[in-house]
Amino acid sequence: MTPQPFPDGSPGEDGPDTSRRGVGARPAGDHRYPAGPERPEPIYCFLIEDSGRDQVSFRRWTRRRADTTGDCPVHGRHAAVRISFHRSEEPATSRISRHDDESFAPDDPRWPSTCECGYRFADDDHFHSLREPLYVGPPPDQDAMMLVTLNQAPPGAIWRAPWLEEYRQSRGPDGHSYVCMLPTGPWLIDGVAKGGKRWTRSGDPPRFTVRPSVIHLRADSLEAYCGLLTDGVVEPL
Ligand SMILES: [Zn+2]
Repeated sequence: MTPQPFPDGSPGEDGPDTSRRGVGARPAGDHRYPAGPERPEPIYCFLIEDSGRDQVSFRRWTRRRADTTGDCPVHGRHAAVRISFHRSEEPATSRISRHDDESFAPDDPRWPSTCECGYRFADDDHFHSLREPLYVGPPPDQDAMMLVTLNQAPPGAIWRAPWLEEYRQSRGPDGHSYVCMLPTGPWLIDGVAKGGKRWTRSGDPPRFTVRPSVIHLRADSLEAYCGLLTDGVVEPL
């Protein structure tokens, strides 16, 4: 299979572009991983779909410095998170991650009461809950189904993002928006590449073929992944 990068595509030297959707994604140009043990393995794609369930994280934290109780492992501030699962009643198109501090009373027993270091949260410390849809899918070579938030999705996971489909800049010709998780983070296949060009996507999920290749930069770092997605397999370039 011959990669077909955009004629004017080239590896970037100017860092990730965080100014638009499809952060840091661009055509891969003439990037090539060297042959040998450093070369990444191909990534086999699989589809994950909205499970109808949400994961709710209960997080407490404080602005107080942690120095009053000795060592605190949580970035020098006291903080703790507890995870819970909820069934959702909402339609899928409105189901995106969001904060919902109002939903749970301060006396809900699911709020963590102490930090790992032993600090006991005060009444006026912060309450913060995050509700994230859980996606379910069959990872390749595993018997068990996988239940993950989109942030937890492993490389190769592909999902449809209906909440992006109202924007022309993030949907394909079939009206759908698909995302593929790469080692460096989520790549919006139907988004706009840095430089303003777009990829073409063909095939049925998860066996997409996407042209040209992609170079994807992890947000807030210079780590890059370069690959070509063909018939549901991402080959490193
Ligand atoms: Zn602490």
